Amino acid sequence: MQPLRVVIVGGGIGGLSCAIISRNQGLDVIVLEKAEKLTPVGAGIQIPPNASRIWSQYGLLERLREHSSISKATQLRRWKDGELLCSRSVGEELDARWPWLVIHRADYQRVLVDECERLGVDVRLKSEVQDIDFDNTKVTLKNGDIISGDVIVGADGLWSTLRARILGHDSPPQETGDLAYRGTFSLEALQALRSPAVDELCQQSLVTMWIGPESHSVFYPVRCGKEFNLVMTQPDDLPASVKTEEGDLDAMKAVFEGWDPLLRQILTAFPSVLRWKMMHHDELASWTKGNVALLGDACHPLLPYQAQGAAMAVEDGAIIAVLLGLYQHAEKNSLPHPSIPETLKLYESLQKKRTTTLHLGSISNQHLYHLDDGPEQEERDRILKEAKFQELPDGSSEPFIWIDLRYQKAILGRDAVGDARDRWEETMADIGKSSA
Ligand SMILES: Cc1cc2nc3c(=O)[nH]c(=O)nc-3n(C[C@H](O)[C@H](O)[C@H](O)COP(=O)(O)OP(=O)(O)OC[C@H]3O[C@@H](n4cnc5c(N)ncnc54)[C@H](O)[C@@H]3O)c2cc1C
Repeated sequence: MQPLRVVIVGGGIGGLSCAIISRNQGLDVIVLEKAEKLTPVGAGIQIPPNASRIWSQYGLLERLREHSSISKATQLRRWKDGELLCSRSVGEELDARWPWLVIHRADYQRVLVDECERLGVDVRLKSEVQDIDFDNTKVTLKNGDIISGDVIVGADGLWSTLRARILGHDSPPQETGDLAYRGTFSLEALQALRSPAVDELCQQSLVTMWIGPESHSVFYPVRCGKEFNLVMTQPDDLPASVKTEEGDLDAMKAVFEGWDPLLRQILTAFPSVLRWKMMHHDELASWTKGNVALLGDACHPLLPYQAQGAAMAVEDGAIIAVLLGLYQHAEKNSLPHPSIPETLKLYESLQKKRTTTLHLGSISNQHLYHLDDGPEQEERDRILKEAKFQELPDGSSEPFIWIDLRYQKAILGRDAVGDARDRWEETMADIGKSSA
């Protein structure tokens, strides 16, 4: 029997992850990417424990660690003076067993591309998909070529073409009201500031966040502490048609006038900066149609306020790959099993509720981070400072998901691969019972 042929549209983190894990299941994989070169978009990225767990299962954790730092904790600080409001340590408070990595996107992508090459994934650049034939599981490229497979995975990101085809109408993402400035600095540029406070911050392996009226800022090391990443959000003032543009450094500094002097010092070392419109999408009615499934930002772009967007794309890719591997095994051994469309529906059933929870969680973090100074902010700060990170009795929860141990454990402690295998076993058992 020929291996199942999986055609993945899009070579971002989600598409490459799905490709690697599919090859690990013995599937044939083609990745179709419209870009001429695989160039990472953006600066740093956090790899939370639910994603690093998957890379430990597929042998890439050590390679990722060679390029990253392990964040010990995420700290929330007050915008004005940097007062510590809450420190959430990964090992102690969150009890996570896999590391929380912080890495440059270029390094993350390099590790994934190298692994694709090693595993023999057929990555085709300059291959923009324009149309799809659901009945015959084929895609048509801009140059007219037609590529067919047994399964098509739409990993084509925020502005997905395949999403519109599955839904049967255009469905662009919506504005979130925020934009982000993003950039990286070298350690040397920060050391040249000759600030003991900046030096001390650089020596700590932390994700530091300053939260303030309508904006927040995130700072962490990448490239093993040789560079640092800074993201700063502000209310979106980009025209609707502009997705990203070169930012003006003076305008950026003016937005953060009056913020913690430590953060303002760091801003002076910014060599250049990009401004990004932040978009998301409401829950889709369906992520699959026949032998076609969407993953990652194509079906659930999130506000990045929990560092989970790419992690979800990795989980999605892993679940699709593992389920298809099990499908192939059952087919080969002539076991009664779900069809490919039913298998893809199992993937959707495993992920959809989870990404909806994350979507709502990101919006609630947007509110938490961006409160104006006043009684509500004072109450928030009091609650954050007193956070105990304890298991609460069933039925009760913390006022903010950021300090809610049950919520955080459900997100960060997830074993996506194990869940996919369990769901498959349950389904096979049900089929066995109904055919007995
Ligand atoms: C400011 C900011 C910070 C973030 N920080 C984090 C973080 O710390 N942690 C985290 O987990 N997530 C983070 N995210 C979210 C994360 O970047 C995305 O969720 C993730 O990159 C989505 O991956 P993807 O593979 O689904 O899509 P993409 O990375 O967008 O990849 C889609 C690919 O498809 C290609 N493509 C598109 N159309 C076609 C076509 N028709 N034919 C062929 N190819 C096509 C594109 O060229 C692209 O390469 C952040 C996002 C932002 C904006």
